[in-house]
Amino acid sequence: MSEKGGISVQTQHIFPVIKKWLYSEKDIFLREVVSNASDAITKVKHLAAIGEAKNIDGDFVIKVIVDKDAGTLTVTDNGIGMTEDEVKKYLNQIALSGALDFVEKYDTGRSEDGIIGHFGLGFYSSFMVSDTVTVKTKSFTDAPAVEWVCTSDGEYEMNPCDKSDRGTEVIMSVTEEEKEYLSREKIAPILDKYCAFMPYPIYLEVVGEAPQEKREKNEAGEEIVTVVEPKPINDTEPLWQKNPSQCTAEEYNDFYRKVFMDYKEPLFHIHINADYPLNFKGILYFPRISHEYQNLEGQVKLFYNRVFVADNIKEVIPDYLLMLKGVLDCPELPLNVSRSYLQNSQYVSKISAHIVKKVCDKLNGLFNTDRENYEKFWDDIKTFVEYACMRDKKFYDKVKDVILYKTITSEKTEYLTIKEYLEKAGTDKKVYYASDVTQQALYINMFKAQNVPVIIFNHLMDNQFITAIEQYESGMKFSRIDAETDAIKNDTEDAKCEDFEKLFKTVSENERMNVSFSELKDSSVPAILTVSEESRRFEEMLKLYRMAHEGEEDTFASRPLDSTLVLNTSNSLIKKLLGKNAESESTKEIAKQIYTLSLIGQRQLTAKELSDFLSNSFSLLEKLDIE
Ligand code: ADP
Repeated sequence: MSEKGGISVQTQHIFPVIKKWLYSEKDIFLREVVSNASDAITKVKHLAAIGEAKNIDGDFVIKVIVDKDAGTLTVTDNGIGMTEDEVKKYLNQIALSGALDFVEKYDTGRSEDGIIGHFGLGFYSSFMVSDTVTVKTKSFTDAPAVEWVCTSDGEYEMNPCDKSDRGTEVIMSVTEEEKEYLSREKIAPILDKYCAFMPYPIYLEVVGEAPQEKREKNEAGEEIVTVVEPKPINDTEPLWQKNPSQCTAEEYNDFYRKVFMDYKEPLFHIHINADYPLNFKGILYFPRISHEYQNLEGQVKLFYNRVFVADNIKEVIPDYLLMLKGVLDCPELPLNVSRSYLQNSQYVSKISAHIVKKVCDKLNGLFNTDRENYEKFWDDIKTFVEYACMRDKKFYDKVKDVILYKTITSEKTEYLTIKEYLEKAGTDKKVYYASDVTQQALYINMFKAQNVPVIIFNHLMDNQFITAIEQYESGMKFSRIDAETDAIKNDTEDAKCEDFEKLFKTVSENERMNVSFSELKDSSVPAILTVSEESRRFEEMLKLYRMAHEGEEDTFASRPLDSTLVLNTSNSLIKKLLGKNAESESTKEIAKQIYTLSLIGQRQLTAKELSDFLSNSFSLLEKLDIE
């Protein structure tokens, strides 16, 4: 008795659409068919557990069989199987309407609103690579086995068949164009990507391939050849499913290495096990990011009930956490919905908030219980933390007490929290920092001598981080150590010397430069140059802006830097100089030299400044008596 039919009128539309659809993501058909096999096993296992299916042994297995000669790719399972009626219902109606529904909903031509991981296309996605699909299935009940053959023009035929064991075989006759799917090289990576953590063992078999052999020498030195037992391609017990208290550090590291192919050990991990109502699990790792220009992109793999869906779905986890590496399994996520749905989903934002909270808790926990280690890997996680803080004020609020700042204090370099810094500095909300410990050595020494700690901010991102904190914490001010002299001068009033002020302006060739006569605490330094924080930041911003907009018309005019030459009235050279005639040639020459030396302490000289400085220095040397 054979039954023939056309699946439905609409099938004329659906097959061509499915076939051409998502050209780049064609591989997912295998995930869909293997997931069905896995679901079928779960179902029969469940029926056995509640006593509705008898004689089910626990030896569940899924096979993916490549047969190049026959031109077929077959997925078999020993799951629940289907009766004839079920085939009609599930394949002719449910699967088809599911696929139709799916295509109708998402084939809008708007790729930016695409569906995450293209999940849920289902059984009919097999037609993306095949022109005929044959299903041979035998239900766990006594019902006879059936064979259902469907071609890509929507015509099917159903007949009894002689399959004797329980389960389903889906035999896909691969089209001429998609022949590449008939090889281990093509199929193995797809299984590895999508099916690596499915719950039942999956074996990949290639018909005609010789079994793998192992050659060993026995004690007598003779070569023994043994056939290697095939191994499943998947890990049926992914670590994230386990109870964190039962996982060892080694297991976490092994899992990381295997999943991310990163042989550098991660710094630490967070195992998330969120119960009802969030109900999701995952492990996030902090990779080592030691230098700034390394690619900061991490990889967070999203799973749906152990089936891989997609990488780095920023709708589910904040983009700044995508610098981490990890896995998230969210069985509650409605993944066959569009991105815009996810963006507006309450559930998704709760997941996201939960992950953020876990990451912050971890950082706080490490700080509180293992500060020594926390300090050791701070340099590695600093960029991540700073970036996350800039992106999300809530993140900042949760970690602000455990953000460390590498600080030069009078004794050494140490890692301080902002609270510890302010205590040491004795300031209320003023923070001093250096951006270049070599260039700013002169200032650093003066701060050190006064016991004022100096934070080292030498990364590109630090500037933006500083700005973010100043916005978050009202009153907090970061000032580069060459921006002002408040911390290193005495509380005495500045002197006034108009003729010398004029002289220094002249020799600096900068009329706008301020000249002050202040008593610095360190009497050994004759003069320093300061550039106000605001003015310098503006200049830096402009530089970045110009770099980003190279070639475009520049609408911003440079502002002259707000700089001040501070002449130290406690220094003997300055004292001596101020007692002389400001108009004499030698005063002028010395003033020029003092100015340029202070400039060298502040920044690199330009070519002209350097050559002037050299000739001025040589001419001064000539005037010295050589004994
Ligand atoms: P979904 O899996 O989302 O329900 P599919 O289109 O993939 O949609 O499959 C439709 C139905 O066909 C399944 O719900 C299931 O009842 C049945 N089915 C598909 N594959 C198998 C299989 N290997 N074993 C048993 N039933 C299957």
